[in-house]
Amino acid sequence: MTTIFAQIVRGEIPADIIYQDDLVTAFRDIHPLAPVHILIVSNEVIPTVNDLTIEDEQVAGRMMLVAKKIAEQEGVAESGYRLLINCRDHAGQEVYHLHMHLLGGRPLGPMLARQ
Ligand code: 5GP
Repeated sequence: MTTIFAQIVRGEIPADIIYQDDLVTAFRDIHPLAPVHILIVSNEVIPTVNDLTIEDEQVAGRMMLVAKKIAEQEGVAESGYRLLINCRDHAGQEVYHLHMHLLGGRPLGPMLARQ
């Protein structure tokens, strides 16, 4: 299985990659919703959070720790930021390859708009 993010991880299509290790890759979102909008993706294709298994514990934890490090590098650790993972239809997941959004650089407003 391949995805657009897997192609970015392998360097087959361009992206503004800011971090990569053996488990995760981070790059800037192509359509940023905030001054800082970075995607932290698993190097292996895991389609959604629903597909995580105990074998993925290390990659899931790495995503969080890398987010913390990038937030510091991007200068938003003190002001604050949001980490967000969309899972399937109701969350509006577009790319079925596990990724965490790191959003910051301005007040982000409420987590969800009231309906
Ligand atoms: P989702 O809705 O699946 O949680 O988020 C997918 C995100 O991937 C969107 O914010 C979208 O802008 C971003 N995205 C989709 N295709 C590309 C791409 O080819 N390059 C980059 N850098 N971001 C992408």
